[in-house]
Amino acid sequence: TLAMQVSDGIRFYDDKIIERRRFATQVENCMRRGLDNHEFQVWYQPKYDLASHRYIGAEALVRWDSPELGFLMPGQFIGIFERTGFVTQLDFYILDEVFRYQRDRRQAGLPVVPISVNQSRLHIQEQNYLNKMKRLVRQFGTIDGIELELTETAFDFESSSQRAAAVDVIRTLKEMGFRISLDDFGSGYSDLSLLNTLPLDVMKLDRTLLVASEDSARMQSVLTNTIRMGHDLGMRVICEGIETAEQEKLLLNCGCHCGQGFFYGKPMPEREFSRFLQERA
Ligand code: C2E
Ligand code: MG
Ligand code: MG
Ligand code: MG
Repeated sequence: TLAMQVSDGIRFYDDKIIERRRFATQVENCMRRGLDNHEFQVWYQPKYDLASHRYIGAEALVRWDSPELGFLMPGQFIGIFERTGFVTQLDFYILDEVFRYQRDRRQAGLPVVPISVNQSRLHIQEQNYLNKMKRLVRQFGTIDGIELELTETAFDFESSSQRAAAVDVIRTLKEMGFRISLDDFGSGYSDLSLLNTLPLDVMKLDRTLLVASEDSARMQSVLTNTIRMGHDLGMRVICEGIETAEQEKLLLNCGCHCGQGFFYGKPMPEREFSRFLQERA
């Protein structure tokens, strides 16, 4: 009967919620030890210049190889880490790893490509963020080869003074020498005033913009004009999530010549990425 189907549906829904809570609790129980035990890994995904056919850098993406929970993707734990505040510790671990990787390459005389690191929105609300960044830069002696990625939702504040404070944090990072990317552009509110307020070097177009443009002339127009706006404002424009030759062609037609996606290279562990760079040097 319908009543039975509905109650089955509710039970199924309840089971899912319970299962999700149980997983979140497990994640919370394992995360600190996971950090101490070096269970978190930095994987690197290349960025590509479609016009000159050259690799121009990479993005650092976290993976968690947990003995208790298995091999996890960021989508499975970053949300939980944000809720608990733990994400800021994770981000500094990743930053430290990338700084170290770049220093080791430099000292070995190997070519260094710029690597961008995702920064949680929680950082720019945290008092100590800039101090920790300054300490890290002092420790490694240089910012060369490190870029930061922030999403526009990071500037989504209730009050304008909070937002102004967040913008100041980014300006200071920029003055310190970091290149700043606006990540996932076009997927959220796309607050255009941010483009004027923030000292941005790179606009990263969200994959949904590209996908939506594949079968819509109207979206192609949005994409083309967003790309032009980015270039007019002096930014490099990179599109994420390119998977096919058709998507590459579409992007070139829309005026974008930098991309990142499975079509050019999947995220890979550090050692594999070093081989990748060596083969292309
Ligand atoms: P993001 O920064 O927008 O990173 C791009 C995501 O798109 C990555 O997912 C990447 O693997 C995926 N991707 C790349 N090429 C393609 C493609 O051709 N097709 C499709 N469908 N996807 C592609 P990933 O690694 O699962 O990371 C997801 C998100 O987790 C990231 O999105 C970022 O917001 C967050 N994240 C990753 N690492 C960190 C980190 O160290 N700290 C923080 N705070 N967030 C992180
Ligand atoms: Mg990113
Ligand atoms: Mg992105
Ligand atoms: Mg994205």
